[in-house]
Amino acid sequence: MDATVVGSGDAFGSGGRFQTCIAVAVDDAPPRVLVDCGATSLTALRKQQLDPNEVDTIVITHLHGDHFGGLPFLILDGQFRRRSRDLTVVGPPGTRDRLTTAMEALYPGSSEVRRRFDVHVLEHADRRPLELGGIRVTPYEVRHASGAPAYAVQLQTSTGSLAYSGDTEWTDVLLQAADDVDLFLCEGYSPAPIRWHLDLQTLEQHRDRFTCRELVLTHLSPTALAADLTTWKVAYDGLRLTV
Ligand SMILES: [Zn+2]
Ligand SMILES: [Zn+2]
Repeated sequence: MDATVVGSGDAFGSGGRFQTCIAVAVDDAPPRVLVDCGATSLTALRKQQLDPNEVDTIVITHLHGDHFGGLPFLILDGQFRRRSRDLTVVGPPGTRDRLTTAMEALYPGSSEVRRRFDVHVLEHADRRPLELGGIRVTPYEVRHASGAPAYAVQLQTSTGSLAYSGDTEWTDVLLQAADDVDLFLCEGYSPAPIRWHLDLQTLEQHRDRFTCRELVLTHLSPTALAADLTTWKVAYDGLRLTV
């Protein structure tokens, strides 16, 4: 399994980084799965020369714009570029309505247009795995206020595994989501504790409890980007990881 960090930034473009998007590929195929699709993700995918029309499945951790706001653009792009592959979106309860509302707010009428492809929306249930495109996707509910439950997600194939924290304040659930995975992409939003987000100080306290093989920070705010990060591995836009 190959993971490309398409967007490693926070919601506000800190450090010139794109919003969250991780492209996952299996067996030398192009990336067919995205984990999160922030508002800037269509541009970020093109920057990495990844074709959005090759994506079959988009796994959404939570319903904030920097994690799902790119969906309307990606769906409309598919319409204008004659996409024919169906698209499956898996997200928190409420994803279907929030996606329709976002599409209608940005491009009125766009949610009801007939297209050459269907958009299937599925909803997470805590710790219920789904098999999607050769990948087992398991959501773990975490603690982040976003108008709907928020999740960390674990992706497993026969050859490798990764987990992503999404946005959350500290919870021991993260240890379970990242248990024994090859790669854990983890929010490292701020140097010191802050409500609803992960910080470097708290992560340091729990660092030895993780059983993942590698932990890589992402979604850093300006203060985290300016902090001493020498003991951490930090993602950047375009970072490619093989697990
Ligand atoms: Zn968020
Ligand atoms: Zn975020």
